[in-house]
Amino acid sequence: MSRPLLMIPGPIEVSAAVVAAAAAPPLSHLDPALIEAYAGALGDMRRVWQSSSESQPFVVAGAGSLAMESAAVNLLDPGQRACVVVTGYFGDRMAEMLRRRGVEVREARMPAPGELPSLEEVARAAEGCQALFATHVDTSTGVRTDAEALAKLARERGLLSVFDGVCATAAERFAQEAWGADVYLTASQKAIGLPAGLALWVASPRALEARAALKVAPPMCLDWEVWRPIQQAYEAAQKSYFSTPATTLIMALRVGLQELVSEGIEEVFQRHERAARAMRAAWSSLGLELLPSDEAWTANTLSALRYPKGVDASLLGRIKEHGAVVAGGLLPELKTQYFRVGHMGVVTKRPDDLLRTVRAVGAALGESGHACDVEAAAAAAQEILG
Ligand code: PMP
Repeated sequence: MSRPLLMIPGPIEVSAAVVAAAAAPPLSHLDPALIEAYAGALGDMRRVWQSSSESQPFVVAGAGSLAMESAAVNLLDPGQRACVVVTGYFGDRMAEMLRRRGVEVREARMPAPGELPSLEEVARAAEGCQALFATHVDTSTGVRTDAEALAKLARERGLLSVFDGVCATAAERFAQEAWGADVYLTASQKAIGLPAGLALWVASPRALEARAALKVAPPMCLDWEVWRPIQQAYEAAQKSYFSTPATTLIMALRVGLQELVSEGIEEVFQRHERAARAMRAAWSSLGLELLPSDEAWTANTLSALRYPKGVDASLLGRIKEHGAVVAGGLLPELKTQYFRVGHMGVVTKRPDDLLRTVRAVGAALGESGHACDVEAAAAAAQEILG
């Protein structure tokens, strides 16, 4: 059989054009073609993020955690207070990063995995804080927070707002400028549609002012004031150097972002919504239960699914044998009780890939002793995918 599909919640399958760009011989960081691609990518980030022309996009070699850490150390001084909305594993990571910066953390935690803290609870926890941090989609639970409402809440109370969009950006609806969100961060290996290796974020003018006002400078390689002139120089088509950029990935980033921009970001969001509805119809037909307790906050980028009775993590190997690589559980307290299927990026344009995944999960469930009708599940998904 051909190579199994990569259906974990990142890294994901990428387009042929991105593969070609990532497979080209490396360029110098001073090569005109690189400079042009870098400038184009920064401009396209504003389009995908829907951020203002005064906002600052950053492209830095690293992964999502580096983007998170940069937000943790560039906005607040030690001794200041942040509210962290915790909807899973990555919210806990954000809180720990802030504590290491010496920030006092107030958590608004999910009452149970798969649930959300209410806006009232967030407002209570945010009292006296200078910034609000939330995970747009927590990949460990498949829960999507209401980023628009949280950004508004932060705005009204004079807090900066930061959203970890690693499992959401370029898939879940987000409008940075219209919502007044200060930082939206992600990594290249998810819905942006690239291999892993780039940390990406856009900071609002207010966020940049907060960095400028810090008393304790962040570590150099994470410092927005070190990186900002580099991004500005590249955007102005000028040569620049602080630390070697990931030139190959930047060439691929240009391609990936152009694909998103030419499709139209609203169409991209709708494509992910449709794919998620199709996958959920299939899971329901297979007798699988989602971890998120309400469809209103169930992510469109992945499905977190409880193992049915009598089925355990050996299911994952069987799914792979049937042609799809999916992920196990991540949340420590539930790790052995659920698994995760990613459905973001280019596969959401390919009904055949989604149906192949449904059939692989269904066939593996059958072999694991869970009776189900694989073709009925595929038909349920197909009906939505058209
Ligand atoms: N936040 C979220 C929501 C994530 O899904 C991930 C990665 N799965 C991260 C942060 C960390 O990203 P990375 O693994 O690229 O450091």
